[in-house]
Amino acid sequence: MNTFENLNLSEQLKESINRLGFTEPTQIQRESIPLILKGKDVIGESATGSGKTLAFGAGIIKNCNPDGGIQAIVLVPTRELAEQVKDEMIKISYNKPIKILAVYGGVSINPQIEKLRKTEVVIATPGRLLDHLNRHTINTSKVKIMVLDEADRMVEMGFIEDVERIIKSCPKDRQTLVFSATIYGPTKRIAQKYMKNPETIEATKMVDPSKLKQTYYDVPPKLKKELLVHLLKKEDSDLVMVFCNTRRITDIVDRVLKANGIKSATIHGGLNQSKRLKTIELFHKGKFRVLVCTDVAARGLHIEGVTHIYNFDIPKEPGDYVHRIGRTARAGKKGLVINILSSNDYKLFSRLKMAYGEFDIQKEERPYLTPITKSEKNYSRGKGNFRKGYRRKNTNKYGRSSSRNNTNRHGKSSSKNPRFKSRRNFKRKYN
Ligand code: ADP
Ligand code: MG
Repeated sequence: MNTFENLNLSEQLKESINRLGFTEPTQIQRESIPLILKGKDVIGESATGSGKTLAFGAGIIKNCNPDGGIQAIVLVPTRELAEQVKDEMIKISYNKPIKILAVYGGVSINPQIEKLRKTEVVIATPGRLLDHLNRHTINTSKVKIMVLDEADRMVEMGFIEDVERIIKSCPKDRQTLVFSATIYGPTKRIAQKYMKNPETIEATKMVDPSKLKQTYYDVPPKLKKELLVHLLKKEDSDLVMVFCNTRRITDIVDRVLKANGIKSATIHGGLNQSKRLKTIELFHKGKFRVLVCTDVAARGLHIEGVTHIYNFDIPKEPGDYVHRIGRTARAGKKGLVINILSSNDYKLFSRLKMAYGEFDIQKEERPYLTPITKSEKNYSRGKGNFRKGYRRKNTNKYGRSSSRNNTNRHGKSSSKNPRFKSRRNFKRKYN
């Protein structure tokens, strides 16, 4: 039978898992926990939401002792994830008096320095942890377990050198665990370099195709927003995530939704830490229905109750698509992925289909779209804001260099270009 009984867990862990209400281990937990508890190095590849935190958390909580100095480090790519993993680890550590600290940038470093002296488990983003190493405000000489969580993401975000330096600062006779939803080449290389005879476990596929429907609409670029608004109003959904490729588009989409009476909010890398955490909390509470976000901000976050994923842009990296759609159809529930495609996305879309040939993305007929009214369009530009915020940056709504300042993208005066002769023409083209 599939229970936590067969996993060789301590009484303390069994009790905390019981309190969490988990009755059955997930596949990755079932297969990796016994190896982790034996002290083996493990590479675990398993879908987002499949319970990887408990898998490595069990090993950490079992092996760390109160007041024994920092004995475990978990590296994660983002601040949100650091907070999230910390919260989960605190739950797993129920009844065991070990201290768990999340360490990340964007907040003042001094309180962290103080707390690091009295902590046993550190969940950190690589940049800030390296900062502490350089300042000698962290002692890694007692580390027994090193975890790279969302390892691929850390590689993609360019943290690889930081990660390597942190690993090198830890004792050689440690246990190293690498977890990720997808494991590509660079992550494998890290694993080879720093792990001892690792066991690889490939568990649950990223998405369960029988639970997930994937569709796409092909519309002219200027109808993307109209289609999104139309579908959001028509589709019966619980929580919705709308993915965009850039902060700017995220903001624009958010404004359009608000103008159309759809409760929404954004998270992207440009928002400060407390704002992001607050937004995620409100989304969890169902205070608004639509979360408009970029890949960086959303990766690895566990958000319950997402029934619909909209890709307002096709992601630049096929791997990001997998992560986006991994936000829905979780825990046996159904999910729908809707790709809003226009000519700008064709190239990325065919790359995506080449990379994941097994995905069945069905074409949907474009519905009749009621144009967004003029006032809504104005609102979508954030009234005065659009001009101040976006024009100043010299870019159009797709994030490309525009011909503001009377020069076109070749640096030539655009006043000669008949398309931009008048300000009105310019507006017509780019707004
Ligand atoms: P991952 O890191 O693989 O994306 P998480 O560790 O964040 O996944 O877990 C996703 C969610 O599933 C969390 O809310 C967690 O509490 C829950 N969870 C973990 N293990 C189980 C389990 N065995 N049964 C039910 N829920 C679980
Ligand atoms: Mg995780």
